[in-house]
Amino acid sequence: MPATTMIAMQIDAPHRPLRRVERPVPRPGPGEVLIAVSACGVCRTDLHVLDGEVPARYPIVPGHEIVGRVLEAGAGVSGFARGQRVGVPWLGHTCGHCAYCASGAENLCDTPQFTGATRDGGYATHVVADAHFCFALPDRFSDVEAAPLLCAGLIGWRALRLAGDGARIGLYGFGAAAHILAQVAVWQGREVFAFTRDGDTAGQAFARSLGCAWAGASTEPSPEPLDAALIFAPVGALVPLALKAVRKGGRVVCAGIHMSDIPAFPYADLWEERQILSVANLTREDGTSFFATAAQADLHIVTEIFALAEANTALARLRSGELVGAAVLLP
Ligand SMILES: [Zn+2]
Ligand SMILES: [Zn+2]
Repeated sequence: MPATTMIAMQIDAPHRPLRRVERPVPRPGPGEVLIAVSACGVCRTDLHVLDGEVPARYPIVPGHEIVGRVLEAGAGVSGFARGQRVGVPWLGHTCGHCAYCASGAENLCDTPQFTGATRDGGYATHVVADAHFCFALPDRFSDVEAAPLLCAGLIGWRALRLAGDGARIGLYGFGAAAHILAQVAVWQGREVFAFTRDGDTAGQAFARSLGCAWAGASTEPSPEPLDAALIFAPVGALVPLALKAVRKGGRVVCAGIHMSDIPAFPYADLWEERQILSVANLTREDGTSFFATAAQADLHIVTEIFALAEANTALARLRSGELVGAAVLLP
């Protein structure tokens, strides 16, 4: 007998702890699939949803790094077999016809839906997803290893692509995303420089263990001029620091959905065609190209596992910077 009741950890309103709820298992609508969740990653964006810092509806079940298996397909869905493993990312639905969707920039769709922010996500035993936004995942990753690939890996990949193909890449904030992207960039033959919080010697050692050429504090000058810097920490003060670290014509890519204000800085630090840009969401093409790369690169995904009921603990550890690698919830 399939389960008729599902369990979720729900945010009722901003700044409230997640609460365990039970409800009937939803049915997939047209174009949707019902998925039994096997693992869901914990992302920095979940904290922004919890803190009311990004557009979301409440109550909401967070979680947009979902790995699970298809239980049922709704009307009009083809190409999914019952039991098939799929991954569900942050971008949960797009309109398909606005100027952005029509020009290959569906990440900027005018009327998108976001998993775990405007539609219920994967901090749950079950989730309903738009079948068009479900990815096949490389077999070489277990469910737990694959979960952080769906945002930390995927958004990081988009940020790395926007950074260009320079040989020297700086990563500011060495959490779930950077620990994956550092390995991808090293595999591509680049030199990676990891910048962490002051005094985070454990994080710096972790970065070096994954192949980074150098690791130090974000307040230290870069030992070499960087071709590009990727900022994963939600700290606006890192933007002028990173700008000082990049060469003429270099880029600073802000990869997060939310950041504290960027302090004023001298125009001379931007001069000589340095650029600052942000990354918003993902396209499905980012997903297919990233998973193809991830299947080849010898990625070592470091995770800390929590039971679904421990979601509040996992989020607290992420907030305090205590996690090494990525937190993953198991229902
Ligand atoms: Zn659109
Ligand atoms: Zn995310």
